[in-house]
Amino acid sequence: MDKCPTCGKELTEEMICIKMCFQCGSKLEDNSNKLSKNEINMLKEIEKEKEQIEIARKEKELKEKIKQHLLTTGFNFEGYKISEYKGIVSGQVVLGTGFFSEFSAAVNDIFGTESNAMANKVQTAKKAAMNKLIESSIKQGGNAIIGVDFDFVTLINNMIGVFANGTSVFIEKSI
Ligand SMILES: [Zn+2]
Repeated sequence: MDKCPTCGKELTEEMICIKMCFQCGSKLEDNSNKLSKNEINMLKEIEKEKEQIEIARKEKELKEKIKQHLLTTGFNFEGYKISEYKGIVSGQVVLGTGFFSEFSAAVNDIFGTESNAMANKVQTAKKAAMNKLIESSIKQGGNAIIGVDFDFVTLINNMIGVFANGTSVFIEKSI
């Protein structure tokens, strides 16, 4: 027989049933379902691990989808037919303060023969904008983008924006 943890009175089934000691009036906690602190922490750890595995799985899935996403500056794909238009998508990357002056100074180099750090910076920004473009296409349910186009826009505070635009579509291999 269980005893009241407050007053030590033996508990009747009735007391257990309504979870209250009739002797002292204290509430009885149901210990049968209660987890120890360690058990709770362990469960939390497991939950965290599960979440991290899930995040990693989703990232992998997204990377795979990005890799498989087809892109064209044109409006069709050889050997595929467009079965659905998902809408216009865009991806933006802003290059920080001070970029534009650097950019102006390096502009000749960019369009010249020499590849340099500045060109790499632009290339990296284009790639990042492109990834955002693809991510937004994936969100729309597309598996390809047609009419891919880049815009460079000068913003306030000496910043420059790299915009990638296109139309998200769903394509299927044509028979
Ligand atoms: Zn009691």
